Amino acid sequence: MIIQLKKNIDSAILNEMALSLNAFHIKRQDSDLLITSSSLKELPGSYEKHVDELWVFSSDMQLSSRSFQKNKVEITIGDVTIGGNTKNTLLIGGPCSVESESQIRSSAELMKKLGLSMLRGGCFKPRTSPYSFQGMGIDGLKLLSKMREEYGLKIISEVRDATQVADVIEYTDVIQIGAKAMYDQGILRACSKTQKPVMIKRGFGSSLQEFTQAAEFVLSGGNPNVILCERGIRTFETKTRFTLDLCGVAWLQEYSNLPIILDPSHAMGYSYGVPSLTKACLAMEVDGLIIETHPNPSQAQSDASQQLNYEEFENLFKELQPLANSLGIKLV
Ligand code: PEP
Ligand code: MN
Repeated sequence: MIIQLKKNIDSAILNEMALSLNAFHIKRQDSDLLITSSSLKELPGSYEKHVDELWVFSSDMQLSSRSFQKNKVEITIGDVTIGGNTKNTLLIGGPCSVESESQIRSSAELMKKLGLSMLRGGCFKPRTSPYSFQGMGIDGLKLLSKMREEYGLKIISEVRDATQVADVIEYTDVIQIGAKAMYDQGILRACSKTQKPVMIKRGFGSSLQEFTQAAEFVLSGGNPNVILCERGIRTFETKTRFTLDLCGVAWLQEYSNLPIILDPSHAMGYSYGVPSLTKACLAMEVDGLIIETHPNPSQAQSDASQQLNYEEFENLFKELQPLANSLGIKLV
């Protein structure tokens, strides 16, 4: 249940209600909201006089649901806004991992040349093997922030554990929570205590309910700036790396109020399929696309097979443009 309290409610009453209902208290615009478990269907009568409006739910997908907020949430990242009625689709490009200054600079230059606004690059890589490249860590984040300053780009980079959240907040504009970290409550709770936008990637073995529940951890802690990212789930199919769940995206668009970014690179796992998939994703009118690109993909230290080279990225950008125009979408 979400309870919107009357304006100017006495703080002692608010605290008593939060305590007795075991509720989260957050502020939205000017309103005080209490969020309880969805198993609560009726409010004790004595509290009714303090309530402006309340919403009852059939599951714990509450703050992220359209039945609470009908319109899609708007998220502002510097001078770029996605979601709401903006019809903006954020096209994010950059390598899987930051590997060197010259490598990340070349990606920054490509984004700038195409008039795009956000650069990706992982610095804390959640690799399947401990013997693989683990990312440049804080030195990589400093390189990203240098690109932010020099090229005026926004930066997205991922956290692998909760101890890195403060550094990622300092050096980036959007915090990425990776698919393997989607269940990490230390990370989710730490990200709920900032207002910095957070992009949560769907765990490859997670249901849509579990995915939106991860978002609720961040939302209920007080951070309204949550973006969902579908990046492929594991199915019986082995010819492609994962299976991009576009049906799931349609479900999220119908029932969730959060902006959605699609990641065809990780879903496909092979660069040959990325351009056509990206077009299919744009046709779903999502709020963003995140595509891996590298100056020399075969030499990449992670995800070599799925990264586009710069020529391929630029060609894709050119193909997306008329499609975006026909849909009334602006690529930003
Ligand atoms: C990535 O974005 O490079 C990444 C590791 O993605 P995922 O968490 O979806 O595997
Ligand atoms: Mn990757």
